[in-house]
This record gives sequence, structure tokens and C-alpha cells, in this order.
Amino acid sequence: MNPVFADLPNTVFDVMSVLARDLGAINLGQGFPDDPGPADVREKAAEALRDGYNQYPPMMGLPTLRRAIADHYERHQGLALDPETEVMVTSGATEALAASLLALVSPGDEVVLFEPMYDAYLPIVRQAGGIPRFVTLRPPHFRLDEDALAEAFSERTRVVVLNNPLNPTATMFGDQDLALLARFCQRFDVTAVCDEVWEHVTFDGRPHRPLIGFEGMRERTVKIGSAGKIFSLTGWKVGFVMAAPPLLKVVSKAHQFLTFTTPPNLQEAVAYGLAKDEAYFLDMRARFARSRDRLSAGLTGLGFSVLPSQATYFLTIDIGELGPRLGCADDVAFCQALVREHGVAAIPISAFYARGAVRNLVRLCFAKQDATLDAALERLSGLM
Ligand code: PMP
Ligand code: GLN
Repeated sequence: MNPVFADLPNTVFDVMSVLARDLGAINLGQGFPDDPGPADVREKAAEALRDGYNQYPPMMGLPTLRRAIADHYERHQGLALDPETEVMVTSGATEALAASLLALVSPGDEVVLFEPMYDAYLPIVRQAGGIPRFVTLRPPHFRLDEDALAEAFSERTRVVVLNNPLNPTATMFGDQDLALLARFCQRFDVTAVCDEVWEHVTFDGRPHRPLIGFEGMRERTVKIGSAGKIFSLTGWKVGFVMAAPPLLKVVSKAHQFLTFTTPPNLQEAVAYGLAKDEAYFLDMRARFARSRDRLSAGLTGLGFSVLPSQATYFLTIDIGELGPRLGCADDVAFCQALVREHGVAAIPISAFYARGAVRNLVRLCFAKQDATLDAALERLSGLM
């Protein structure tokens, strides 16, 4: 057996969702909205299924979707992408990440990873034979720091993985962070794999700025997106990879033997949805921001210490004082107590740190109906 996978625990998202189901807890752990998603996009998928979109679509994705992706990112982020040579459709961002890392990392290459990091990155980097070089980001701002980058980057660095907006901390990197990272990528001739699945779920008018748009990054960035997040349809698993032709070509070679392709009816529906006007995106952000504010205000009112949430479906609480008072040594113990004794599932953020640097933060998903958030707050009041 391959130790990279044989020695891995189950992902924290599955562990907490199983516990929530088994214990009948309110699940604010794994990030998924509890509304059904846009009816017209779902209807398009059903229609396409009935109309016969059921055989293998092209390996790179349906031409209509690749064109829709290029148009979408031109409109929203000012990117000029050639749908024929710079856009590929994958089965979720998860596959896009695996294909990109397997294709771009060779054994012995150093890969810079910012922790906290989404839990899919490290096992794939290891499987590719990459040597992780961690940069630890710390609360409350989780900003990049020049000295830490200088320590992590070297002549052996080939790839850096950036997640912006950042899951699990709900923060966004600023232009200064991104320009700094762009300089390091150019100085050391490094390719950036940018997981930007949360690019549309941003709050308070903060625009998402893709690293691929920064000076000198167009030819050395692989940008990854996910329709699951854009349309709140997380089970659909339709992802996108966008990169200059030489990079996309090699990533497509990995994709062809990971999944080869993605259900065509979903591709057709995503192509339709990507053309939605600005009102859809404004409304989505406003709805999630309202839920964020509801949960945040409720938690603050109960006496929890809530960190600012700039993006994603999540907010973070600092249990630094509360944990010890409740007899919980760390965030993992706290989340276990929360789900078992108080009926609310959450995610311990230490699961995203490779070296245990931060153990006092807990992530809660607010993409839920008001009644669900209120019921969770009621249960959480029992802790205070
Ligand atoms: N990257 C990040 C940072 C995520 O949060 C997620 C899922 N929420 C993914 C990748 C996976 O996306 P998908 O469901 O499209 O595979
Ligand atoms: N990305 C989702 C989250 O952060 C979960 C994805 C998964 O379950 N693998 O909660």
C-alpha cells in the first residue's frame, strides 16, 4: 500500500459530517448551503439530461462551457483567456488541483504551501514526490510576510499553492500580499497554482483579484475555479482550470487519466449559469453576508470572540479563553465536545495546519437558513 494514502486519516469534513448525522447535530462544519440553489440552473441540467447530453463530452470540456468560462472571467476579472487553449473543465476543483499538482511537481521539487491550507493539497504534493515548504500564516490577519517567503523559497522551489480567498480563515489576501508573492514567483521561476474557488463569495464590496492578473504572472499561473461555489451547488463537482497553453497542456495530460471528463448535462447548465448578470452575484453575496452577520452578531452577543469574515461561507471563533474554561485542551477537543454535548458540528482549524502552529480557532459555516442559525445559537448559548 502507498503510505501517502494508507497513513492518512479521513478528511475532517467527512469526520464531522458523519458525527453530525449520527448524533443528530446541526451541521455547521462542512461547507455547503442548505438552500436548493438557483432553480433555472438546476432546470437547465435536468433539461440537458432529457435532451440527450449523456455520452462522453470532449476531454477538455464542452466548447459551450469553455467559451462561457472565458467570457465570464473577462467580464468579472478582466482576463483574456483563449477558450481553445487556455481553459479546461474538470470534475470539481478537487480534480483540478490534483491534475495541476501531479502535472507540475516532479519528485524532489520543493512546493511552497501556506498553512492553514485546504486539506487536499498536501497528500497530492507528497504523492507527486514534492517536498513541502510551509509558510505559517497567523491570526487575525493571515497576511504574507516577506521574511517568511524568503525562508521558504529557494532555487529548488518549482510550485507555490495559493488559496485566495482563504478557506478556512475567511480572509482575503490584499494587493500587497499578491504583488509580493508575484515577485517571489518571478525571482525563483516558480509556477503558482491558485485555488480561487471562493472568488465570488466575497463581502463588503471587496473585489477578488486573481494572481494571474498580476504583472509577470500570466504565463506562470494556473487558476482554478469551481461552479459548486459559484452556484451554491457543491455536489455538482464542475471545476475549471485556466492557464497559458504550455501549462494547460501538461495539466490536461494528468486530467485525461484522472477523470477524462465531467457529466455533460452539468457542463451545459454551468455554461448557462456563468452568463448570469451582475444582479445574481450581488444578490448571492448579499444573502450570504446577511447570514454571516446574523451568526456573527448572535455569537458576539453570547460572548464568543468572532474573527472578521471577508469571504467564503465561514466565520472563525477564537476559543483561546473559552476552551480551557470548558476543560478542552485544543480546538479538536472543543469541536468534539461541541458536537457530542451541545449538538453543533464545527471544524477545528488545526486540521489545516501541518505543524500544529494554531490550535485555538474553530470554523463555523453560516450558509444556512435563519432558523438553523438561530437553533445553533440557542445550543451554543449552553456553553457560555
Ligand atoms: N478548494 C477549496 C479551498 C475549497 O474550499 C473546496 C471545497 N469547498 C475545494 C477546493 C473543492 O472544490 P470542488 O467541490 O469544486 O471540488
Ligand atoms: N470545501 C468544503 C469545506 O471547506 C468541504 C469540501 C469537502 O467536504 N471535501 O467545508
